Amino acid sequence: MISDASAPPLGVYVHVPFCRHACRYCDFHFSTLLKQIPEVVDAIVREVELRLPFDTQASTLYWGGGTPSLLPDADFTRLNEALRSRLRLDSGAECTLEVNPEDVTNSSLALWRRAGFNRLSVGVQSFRDDRLDWMGRAHRGVDAEVAVRRAQDAGFSSMSLDLIYGLPGSSLGEWQEQVGRAMELGTPHLSAYALTVEPRTALAHDVAKGRSEAPRDERAAEDFLWLRSEVERLGWEGYEVSNYARPGCRAKHNSSYWQGSPYVGIGPGAHSYDGHRLRRSNVRNNSLYQGAVLANKESGWFDLEQLSDQEHFHEQVLTQLRRVEGLPRSAAGGRNLSEAWSKWIGMGYMVSDELGWRLQGEGWLWVDAVASDAFGLES
Ligand code: SF4
Repeated sequence: MISDASAPPLGVYVHVPFCRHACRYCDFHFSTLLKQIPEVVDAIVREVELRLPFDTQASTLYWGGGTPSLLPDADFTRLNEALRSRLRLDSGAECTLEVNPEDVTNSSLALWRRAGFNRLSVGVQSFRDDRLDWMGRAHRGVDAEVAVRRAQDAGFSSMSLDLIYGLPGSSLGEWQEQVGRAMELGTPHLSAYALTVEPRTALAHDVAKGRSEAPRDERAAEDFLWLRSEVERLGWEGYEVSNYARPGCRAKHNSSYWQGSPYVGIGPGAHSYDGHRLRRSNVRNNSLYQGAVLANKESGWFDLEQLSDQEHFHEQVLTQLRRVEGLPRSAAGGRNLSEAWSKWIGMGYMVSDELGWRLQGEGWLWVDAVASDAFGLES
Protein backbone atom coordinates (compact mmCIF):
# COMPACT_ATOMS: atom_id res chain seq x y z
CA MET A 1 0.00 0.00 0.00
CA ILE A 2 1.22 3.48 -0.79
CA SER A 3 1.21 5.33 2.49
CA ASP A 4 4.65 6.87 2.57
CA ALA A 5 3.48 10.40 2.90
CA SER A 6 6.81 11.77 4.02
CA ALA A 7 8.25 12.81 0.66
CA PRO A 8 7.14 16.36 -0.15
CA PRO A 9 5.48 17.78 -2.13
CA LEU A 10 2.62 15.36 -1.61
CA GLY A 11 -0.83 15.81 -3.11
CA VAL A 12 -3.86 14.24 -1.48
CA TYR A 13 -6.88 13.43 -3.64
CA VAL A 14 -10.27 12.31 -2.33
CA HIS A 15 -12.76 10.78 -4.75
CA VAL A 16 -16.41 11.36 -3.83
CA PRO A 17 -18.21 8.81 -6.04
CA PHE A 18 -21.75 10.19 -6.24
CA CYS A 19 -23.70 12.27 -8.74
CA ARG A 20 -27.35 13.26 -8.87
CA HIS A 21 -27.67 11.76 -12.30
CA ALA A 22 -25.43 10.58 -15.10
CA CYS A 23 -24.21 13.07 -17.68
CA ARG A 24 -24.42 11.19 -20.96
CA TYR A 25 -20.75 11.63 -21.97
CA CYS A 26 -19.19 10.81 -18.58
CA ASP A 27 -17.00 7.77 -17.85
CA PHE A 28 -15.74 8.79 -14.41
CA HIS A 29 -16.55 6.51 -11.50
CA PHE A 30 -19.76 7.56 -9.75
CA SER A 31 -23.08 6.18 -8.54
CA THR A 32 -26.49 7.84 -8.38
CA LEU A 33 -27.54 5.72 -5.35
CA LEU A 34 -27.30 8.64 -2.96
CA LYS A 35 -28.70 6.61 -0.07
CA GLN A 36 -25.33 4.86 0.07
CA ILE A 37 -23.53 8.12 0.90
CA PRO A 38 -23.23 7.67 4.71
CA GLU A 39 -21.76 4.15 4.45
CA VAL A 40 -19.37 5.03 1.64
CA VAL A 41 -18.21 8.11 3.56
CA ASP A 42 -17.64 5.83 6.58
CA ALA A 43 -15.39 3.71 4.37
CA ILE A 44 -13.53 6.72 2.94
CA VAL A 45 -12.93 7.97 6.49
CA ARG A 46 -11.60 4.51 7.38
CA GLU A 47 -9.25 4.60 4.39
CA VAL A 48 -8.01 8.01 5.50
CA GLU A 49 -7.16 6.49 8.89
CA LEU A 50 -5.46 3.50 7.27
CA ARG A 51 -3.36 5.35 4.74
CA LEU A 52 -2.57 8.78 6.13
CA PRO A 53 -0.45 8.67 9.28
CA PHE A 54 -0.86 11.54 11.72
CA ASP A 55 1.10 14.63 10.65
CA THR A 56 1.24 13.68 6.99
CA GLN A 57 2.71 16.73 5.30
CA ALA A 58 0.87 17.71 2.12
CA SER A 59 1.09 20.64 -0.25
CA THR A 60 -2.28 20.22 -1.98
CA LEU A 61 -5.66 18.71 -1.18
CA TYR A 62 -8.23 18.06 -3.89
CA TRP A 63 -11.73 16.62 -3.59
CA GLY A 64 -13.02 15.44 -6.94
CA GLY A 65 -15.55 13.04 -8.24
CA GLY A 66 -18.29 12.44 -8.87
CA THR A 67 -19.70 15.51 -7.24
CA PRO A 68 -18.17 16.37 -3.83
CA SER A 69 -20.46 19.40 -3.52
CA LEU A 70 -23.56 17.22 -3.20
CA LEU A 71 -22.44 15.68 0.11
CA PRO A 72 -24.85 16.45 2.94
CA ASP A 73 -23.28 18.81 5.49
CA ALA A 74 -22.83 16.11 8.15
CA ASP A 75 -21.02 13.70 5.79
CA PHE A 76 -18.94 16.51 4.31
CA THR A 77 -17.85 17.67 7.77
CA ARG A 78 -17.11 14.14 9.01
CA LEU A 79 -14.85 13.43 6.04
CA ASN A 80 -13.15 16.81 6.22
CA GLU A 81 -12.43 16.45 9.93
CA ALA A 82 -10.93 13.00 9.37
CA LEU A 83 -8.60 14.40 6.71
CA ARG A 84 -7.63 17.50 8.64
CA SER A 85 -6.85 15.44 11.74
CA ARG A 86 -4.23 13.53 9.71
CA LEU A 87 -2.80 16.18 7.40
CA ARG A 88 -0.27 18.87 8.11
CA LEU A 89 -0.90 21.15 5.15
CA ASP A 90 1.87 23.51 4.02
CA SER A 91 1.12 27.17 4.66
CA GLY A 92 -0.73 28.45 1.60
CA ALA A 93 -1.59 24.90 0.55
CA GLU A 94 -4.04 24.76 -2.34
CA CYS A 95 -7.27 23.08 -1.19
CA THR A 96 -9.69 22.56 -4.08
CA LEU A 97 -13.27 21.38 -4.10
CA GLU A 98 -15.02 20.33 -7.31
CA VAL A 99 -18.54 21.76 -7.32
CA ASN A 100 -21.54 21.72 -9.60
CA PRO A 101 -23.37 25.03 -10.02
CA GLU A 102 -26.66 23.76 -8.59
CA ASP A 103 -24.97 23.06 -5.22
CA VAL A 104 -23.45 26.52 -4.77
CA THR A 105 -25.57 28.31 -2.17
CA ASN A 106 -24.56 30.89 0.41
CA SER A 107 -24.73 28.29 3.16
CA SER A 108 -22.71 25.67 1.24
CA LEU A 109 -20.08 28.29 0.42
CA ALA A 110 -19.84 29.22 4.09
CA LEU A 111 -19.43 25.54 5.01
CA TRP A 112 -16.68 25.03 2.41
CA ARG A 113 -14.80 28.14 3.57
CA ARG A 114 -15.03 27.08 7.21
CA ALA A 115 -13.77 23.65 6.18
CA GLY A 116 -10.59 25.23 4.82
CA PHE A 117 -11.13 25.11 1.05
CA ASN A 118 -9.60 28.06 -0.81
CA ARG A 119 -10.26 27.08 -4.44
CA LEU A 120 -13.32 25.86 -6.34
CA SER A 121 -13.42 24.00 -9.63
CA VAL A 122 -16.85 24.67 -11.11
CA GLY A 123 -18.41 22.24 -13.61
CA VAL A 124 -19.92 24.80 -15.99
CA GLN A 125 -19.43 22.88 -19.29
CA SER A 126 -21.63 25.34 -21.21
CA PHE A 127 -23.67 28.48 -20.53
CA ARG A 128 -26.32 27.39 -23.08
CA ASP A 129 -29.36 25.54 -21.78
CA ASP A 130 -29.85 23.55 -25.01
CA ARG A 131 -26.27 22.22 -24.76
CA LEU A 132 -26.64 21.47 -21.05
CA ASP A 133 -29.83 19.52 -21.78
CA TRP A 134 -28.06 17.60 -24.56
CA MET A 135 -25.19 16.73 -22.19
CA GLY A 136 -27.60 15.69 -19.45
CA ARG A 137 -26.37 18.26 -16.96
CA ALA A 138 -28.52 19.16 -13.96
CA HIS A 139 -28.11 22.96 -14.08
CA ARG A 140 -29.07 25.92 -16.29
CA GLY A 141 -26.58 28.31 -17.85
CA VAL A 142 -27.65 31.10 -15.55
CA ASP A 143 -27.01 28.86 -12.51
CA ALA A 144 -23.33 28.72 -13.43
CA GLU A 145 -23.06 32.52 -13.60
CA VAL A 146 -24.89 32.92 -10.29
CA ALA A 147 -22.69 30.23 -8.70
CA VAL A 148 -19.45 31.90 -9.79
CA ARG A 149 -20.55 35.34 -8.61
CA ARG A 150 -21.76 33.95 -5.28
CA ALA A 151 -18.48 32.12 -4.79
CA GLN A 152 -16.50 35.29 -5.53
CA ASP A 153 -18.65 37.24 -3.06
CA ALA A 154 -17.95 34.56 -0.46
CA GLY A 155 -14.20 35.06 -0.91
CA PHE A 156 -13.29 32.33 -3.41
CA SER A 157 -11.08 34.41 -5.70
CA SER A 158 -9.19 31.29 -6.77
CA MET A 159 -11.31 29.13 -9.01
CA SER A 160 -11.41 27.25 -12.27
CA LEU A 161 -14.28 26.81 -14.71
CA ASP A 162 -14.67 23.63 -16.77
CA LEU A 163 -15.95 24.01 -20.33
CA ILE A 164 -16.55 21.43 -23.08
CA TYR A 165 -15.93 22.22 -26.74
CA GLY A 166 -16.39 20.47 -30.08
CA LEU A 167 -20.08 19.70 -29.46
CA PRO A 168 -21.98 18.31 -32.47
CA GLY A 169 -23.80 21.09 -34.27
CA SER A 170 -21.79 23.84 -32.55
CA SER A 171 -19.77 26.54 -34.31
CA LEU A 172 -16.59 28.44 -33.61
CA GLY A 173 -18.71 31.51 -32.91
CA GLU A 174 -20.58 29.62 -30.21
CA TRP A 175 -17.32 28.51 -28.57
CA GLN A 176 -15.96 32.07 -28.68
CA GLU A 177 -19.10 33.26 -26.92
CA GLN A 178 -18.78 30.55 -24.25
CA VAL A 179 -15.17 31.42 -23.51
CA GLY A 180 -16.06 35.12 -23.51
CA ARG A 181 -18.72 34.53 -20.87
CA ALA A 182 -16.27 32.62 -18.70
CA MET A 183 -13.71 35.41 -19.03
CA GLU A 184 -16.31 38.08 -18.22
CA LEU A 185 -16.93 36.29 -14.93
CA GLY A 186 -13.32 37.00 -13.99
CA THR A 187 -12.13 33.44 -13.56
CA PRO A 188 -8.34 33.14 -13.29
CA HIS A 189 -8.29 29.55 -14.65
CA LEU A 190 -10.07 27.52 -17.32
CA SER A 191 -10.08 23.80 -18.04
CA ALA A 192 -11.37 23.08 -21.54
CA TYR A 193 -12.01 19.55 -22.75
CA ALA A 194 -12.99 18.27 -26.18
CA LEU A 195 -16.15 16.20 -26.10
CA THR A 196 -15.15 12.58 -26.64
CA VAL A 197 -17.31 9.49 -27.02
CA GLU A 198 -16.14 7.16 -24.27
CA PRO A 199 -17.08 3.47 -24.40
CA ARG A 200 -20.05 2.33 -22.30
CA THR A 201 -21.52 5.82 -21.92
CA ALA A 202 -25.05 6.81 -22.88
CA LEU A 203 -23.54 8.99 -25.60
CA ALA A 204 -21.61 6.05 -27.08
CA HIS A 205 -24.83 4.02 -27.10
CA ASP A 206 -26.79 6.79 -28.82
CA VAL A 207 -24.05 7.39 -31.40
CA ALA A 208 -23.92 3.66 -32.18
CA LYS A 209 -27.70 3.55 -32.64
CA GLY A 210 -27.60 6.62 -34.88
CA ARG A 211 -29.67 8.60 -32.36
CA SER A 212 -26.92 11.12 -31.74
CA GLU A 213 -24.40 12.82 -33.97
CA ALA A 214 -20.76 12.04 -33.14
CA PRO A 215 -18.42 14.96 -32.43
CA ARG A 216 -16.14 15.79 -35.37
CA ASP A 217 -12.36 16.12 -34.91
CA GLU A 218 -12.18 19.16 -37.23
CA ARG A 219 -14.76 21.03 -35.12
CA ALA A 220 -12.84 20.32 -31.91
CA ALA A 221 -9.52 21.25 -33.54
CA GLU A 222 -10.85 24.62 -34.65
CA ASP A 223 -12.15 25.41 -31.13
CA PHE A 224 -8.92 24.20 -29.54
CA LEU A 225 -6.57 26.24 -31.73
CA TRP A 226 -8.68 29.35 -31.36
CA LEU A 227 -8.65 29.04 -27.54
CA ARG A 228 -4.86 28.66 -27.44
CA SER A 229 -4.39 31.78 -29.53
CA GLU A 230 -7.01 33.70 -27.58
CA VAL A 231 -5.46 32.99 -24.18
CA GLU A 232 -2.09 34.09 -25.55
CA ARG A 233 -3.67 37.33 -26.76
CA LEU A 234 -5.05 37.87 -23.25
CA GLY A 235 -1.65 37.26 -21.66
CA TRP A 236 -2.71 33.94 -20.12
CA GLU A 237 -0.73 30.68 -20.28
CA GLY A 238 -1.95 27.56 -22.06
CA TYR A 239 0.22 25.58 -19.66
CA GLU A 240 -1.21 22.13 -20.36
CA VAL A 241 -3.17 20.75 -23.27
CA SER A 242 -6.51 21.30 -21.47
CA ASN A 243 -5.58 23.98 -18.93
CA TYR A 244 -5.26 27.75 -19.16
CA ALA A 245 -4.41 30.25 -16.44
CA ARG A 246 -3.64 33.85 -15.73
CA PRO A 247 0.08 34.16 -14.84
CA GLY A 248 0.58 32.82 -11.33
CA CYS A 249 -2.78 31.02 -11.26
CA ARG A 250 -1.86 27.51 -12.47
CA ALA A 251 -3.55 24.63 -10.64
CA LYS A 252 -0.90 23.35 -8.22
CA HIS A 253 -2.49 19.97 -7.52
CA ASN A 254 -2.89 18.92 -11.14
CA SER A 255 0.48 20.42 -12.08
CA SER A 256 2.16 18.15 -9.56
CA TYR A 257 0.54 15.09 -11.24
CA TRP A 258 1.96 16.15 -14.56
CA GLN A 259 5.39 16.67 -13.04
CA GLY A 260 5.42 13.15 -11.61
CA SER A 261 5.16 14.15 -7.93
CA PRO A 262 3.72 11.63 -5.46
CA TYR A 263 0.06 11.64 -4.53
CA VAL A 264 -2.25 9.60 -2.37
CA GLY A 265 -5.73 8.96 -3.76
CA ILE A 266 -8.47 7.99 -1.30
CA GLY A 267 -11.93 6.64 -2.15
CA PRO A 268 -13.39 4.22 -4.70
CA GLY A 269 -11.74 4.56 -8.10
CA ALA A 270 -8.95 6.79 -6.78
CA HIS A 271 -5.36 6.39 -7.99
CA SER A 272 -2.11 6.86 -6.08
CA TYR A 273 1.51 7.18 -7.16
CA ASP A 274 4.66 7.03 -5.02
CA GLY A 275 6.68 9.35 -7.29
CA HIS A 276 8.91 6.50 -8.49
CA ARG A 277 7.50 3.32 -9.97
CA LEU A 278 4.55 2.22 -7.81
CA ARG A 279 0.97 2.93 -8.82
CA ARG A 280 -2.16 1.96 -6.95
CA SER A 281 -5.80 1.99 -8.06
CA ASN A 282 -8.79 1.48 -5.80
CA VAL A 283 -11.72 -0.58 -7.07
CA ARG A 284 -14.32 1.38 -9.10
CA ASN A 285 -17.30 -0.07 -7.26
CA ASN A 286 -18.82 1.61 -4.21
CA SER A 287 -20.35 -1.52 -2.66
CA LEU A 288 -17.20 -3.62 -3.06
CA TYR A 289 -15.04 -0.79 -1.74
CA GLN A 290 -17.25 -0.06 1.23
CA GLY A 291 -17.70 -3.73 2.17
CA ALA A 292 -13.99 -4.52 1.98
CA VAL A 293 -12.70 -1.39 3.73
CA LEU A 294 -15.22 -1.58 6.57
CA ALA A 295 -14.47 -5.30 7.00
CA ASN A 296 -10.78 -4.39 7.39
CA LYS A 297 -9.79 -6.49 4.37
CA GLU A 298 -6.15 -5.95 3.52
CA SER A 299 -6.54 -6.78 -0.15
CA GLY A 300 -9.13 -7.22 -2.87
CA TRP A 301 -10.18 -3.59 -3.05
CA PHE A 302 -7.14 -2.11 -4.78
CA ASP A 303 -4.49 -3.09 -7.33
CA LEU A 304 -0.80 -2.31 -7.16
CA GLU A 305 1.30 -1.94 -10.27
CA GLN A 306 5.08 -1.74 -10.36
CA LEU A 307 6.05 0.13 -13.51
CA SER A 308 8.97 -1.13 -15.58
CA ASP A 309 11.52 1.43 -16.81
CA GLN A 310 9.86 1.36 -20.22
CA GLU A 311 6.35 1.86 -18.76
CA HIS A 312 7.63 4.70 -16.62
CA PHE A 313 9.18 6.32 -19.70
CA HIS A 314 5.86 6.00 -21.59
CA GLU A 315 4.01 7.68 -18.74
CA GLN A 316 6.49 10.51 -18.62
CA VAL A 317 6.18 11.08 -22.36
CA LEU A 318 2.38 11.01 -22.23
CA THR A 319 2.04 13.38 -19.29
CA GLN A 320 4.94 15.75 -19.87
CA LEU A 321 4.36 16.32 -23.57
CA ARG A 322 0.99 17.71 -22.51
CA ARG A 323 2.74 20.48 -20.55
CA VAL A 324 3.99 23.68 -22.12
CA GLU A 325 7.45 22.90 -20.69
CA GLY A 326 7.40 19.59 -22.56
CA LEU A 327 9.59 16.58 -21.92
CA PRO A 328 12.97 17.42 -20.37
CA ARG A 329 16.16 15.91 -21.84
CA SER A 330 16.76 14.12 -18.52
CA ALA A 331 13.65 11.97 -19.14
CA ALA A 332 14.95 10.51 -22.40
CA GLY A 333 17.20 7.96 -20.67
CA GLY A 334 19.57 7.84 -23.64
CA ARG A 335 16.84 7.36 -26.26
CA ASN A 336 17.23 9.25 -29.52
CA LEU A 337 13.98 11.19 -29.35
CA SER A 338 15.01 13.87 -31.82
CA GLU A 339 15.26 11.18 -34.47
CA ALA A 340 11.95 9.57 -33.44
CA TRP A 341 10.28 12.97 -33.61
CA SER A 342 12.12 14.35 -36.66
CA LYS A 343 8.88 14.39 -38.69
CA TRP A 344 7.11 16.54 -36.09
CA ILE A 345 10.11 18.82 -35.61
CA GLY A 346 10.43 19.19 -39.41
CA MET A 347 6.78 20.22 -39.72
CA GLY A 348 7.30 22.90 -37.07
CA TYR A 349 4.93 21.12 -34.68
CA MET A 350 7.63 20.54 -32.10
CA VAL A 351 10.69 22.36 -30.75
CA SER A 352 13.84 20.47 -29.79
CA ASP A 353 16.49 22.41 -27.84
CA GLU A 354 18.84 22.04 -24.88
CA LEU A 355 15.91 21.95 -22.44
CA GLY A 356 14.03 19.14 -24.16
CA TRP A 357 11.10 18.67 -26.54
CA ARG A 358 7.97 20.84 -26.62
CA LEU A 359 4.87 20.88 -28.78
CA GLN A 360 3.80 24.09 -30.45
CA GLY A 361 1.10 25.38 -32.81
CA GLU A 362 -0.87 22.60 -34.46
CA GLY A 363 1.45 20.07 -32.83
CA TRP A 364 -0.81 20.26 -29.75
CA LEU A 365 -3.51 18.50 -31.76
CA TRP A 366 -1.22 15.49 -32.25
CA VAL A 367 0.03 14.89 -28.72
CA ASP A 368 -1.00 11.21 -28.62
CA ALA A 369 0.45 10.44 -32.08
CA VAL A 370 3.70 12.20 -31.16
CA ALA A 371 3.92 10.25 -27.90
CA SER A 372 3.35 6.91 -29.63
CA ASP A 373 6.24 7.61 -32.02
CA ALA A 374 8.52 7.46 -28.97
CA PHE A 375 7.17 4.23 -27.56
CA GLY A 376 9.16 1.74 -29.62
CA LEU A 377 12.50 3.19 -28.53
CA GLU A 378 14.83 1.26 -26.24
CA SER A 379 16.95 3.12 -23.71
S1 SF4 B 1 -19.64 14.82 -15.60
FE1 SF4 B 1 -19.38 15.18 -13.41
S2 SF4 B 1 -21.48 15.54 -12.66
FE2 SF4 B 1 -21.69 14.56 -14.67
S3 SF4 B 1 -21.84 12.36 -14.20
FE3 SF4 B 1 -19.67 12.81 -14.60
S4 SF4 B 1 -18.77 13.17 -12.59
FE4 SF4 B 1 -21.02 13.36 -12.38
